[in-house]
Amino acid sequence: MPFSKLGLSAKALEGVRASGYTEPTAIQLRAIPLVMSGRDLIGSAQTGTGKTAAFALPMISRLAQRGALRGLVLEPTRELAAQVETAIRDYGRFTNLRTAVLYGGTGYGRQDQALRQGVDIIVATPGRLLDQMQRGLVRFNHIEMLVLDEADRMLDMGFLPDVRRVVERCPRARQTMLFSATIPPEIEQLCRWALCDPETVEIGQRRSPAETATHALYPVASDQKQELLEDLLRRTDYDQVLIFCRTKHGADRVARRLQQQGHAVAVLHSNRTQQERERALNGFRNGRYEVMVATDIAARGLDVEQISHVINYDVPHHPEDYVHRIGRTGRAQSVGDAFTIMTGENVEEIVAIEHFIGQKIPRVKLEGFPYKYTRLLEDRPPPIFGGRSRRSRPVGYGGRR
Ligand code: AMP
Repeated sequence: MPFSKLGLSAKALEGVRASGYTEPTAIQLRAIPLVMSGRDLIGSAQTGTGKTAAFALPMISRLAQRGALRGLVLEPTRELAAQVETAIRDYGRFTNLRTAVLYGGTGYGRQDQALRQGVDIIVATPGRLLDQMQRGLVRFNHIEMLVLDEADRMLDMGFLPDVRRVVERCPRARQTMLFSATIPPEIEQLCRWALCDPETVEIGQRRSPAETATHALYPVASDQKQELLEDLLRRTDYDQVLIFCRTKHGADRVARRLQQQGHAVAVLHSNRTQQERERALNGFRNGRYEVMVATDIAARGLDVEQISHVINYDVPHHPEDYVHRIGRTGRAQSVGDAFTIMTGENVEEIVAIEHFIGQKIPRVKLEGFPYKYTRLLEDRPPPIFGGRSRRSRPVGYGGRR
């Protein structure tokens, strides 16, 4: 079904065309007509499914014209807020709607100026939004459409009390949409409290990682992790690679070593200033950096089209984080690879991840790598690859791709 059959306004359709989208994704197909009819919505979908446009296009269509602040989108991180605001501005470029993005960790100047000029849609992290409300620059009394995006991440980050404070200040007669990759009990409760007779749209299995990604585990001794990472990068034919570390110091250390090896590396974690983070992100987006090393929180919701590989330098603590990390590759319909470096200490975490995603992840041995031990590799026979595209095959067999 084409976009033109979903009930969107002519201006929103122009925005879609200019974005180069030819047909709606599954969540857009199901969510857009519902939102256009005024229903509340629970979207159980991961990033990478096209969920931003699923709420942004109806918002642009329904708000239509410049007026008061009527659309509000809450996001868990500054990066995600900035990204979603850019998307809304892009889709709405043929309207005269004004948007603003509000997040902490940066000065008030530009944000205040935007608010004083008047805006129709705000995309914000909850803390700074409440802050701006207390400063008298934001009023919620005309809000018609409220989006709680990545609700499970907001829960993880302890933002639910702030989210509730915002919701309480919005008019009762409003349309509310909540998006979440997983629906834990706290989010279910939030849905019951904040939404009115919602329709649920579930895309894919709730807990499956981006299905287009190919997964591989690289077991190694813990003091050989960096060496293996470097070898893996040498043998991999990547466009851009995102490397996850558990800690900020770990991320800095890995980045430094890769820089010494001649890689163009950006680092993204919360010890960096907003300006440094923006510089890293923009440099990664425009291809100046081929590698980005990040911690989980900093990279949440990152949308960089060219990411061909995600490498978990450290196995994530929570299986959910594995899914979120992998969600950075294999976006929309493209294929991506997800490599995880594991040590003997990670065996239980890997079992939990495999259980969570409902599939075994193949163990792969790097040919010619000077392994100190291969016990973890001997757990099961090596996997047999075939039938997938060249780029989706984990490295290890047949050398450089
Ligand atoms: P999201 O899940 O909203 O973060 O979107 C993931 C990616 O899919 C973004 O890069 C979008 O630009 C892209 N996208 C969204 N909708 C479509 C569509 N209908 N066709 C092609 N790409 C899309």
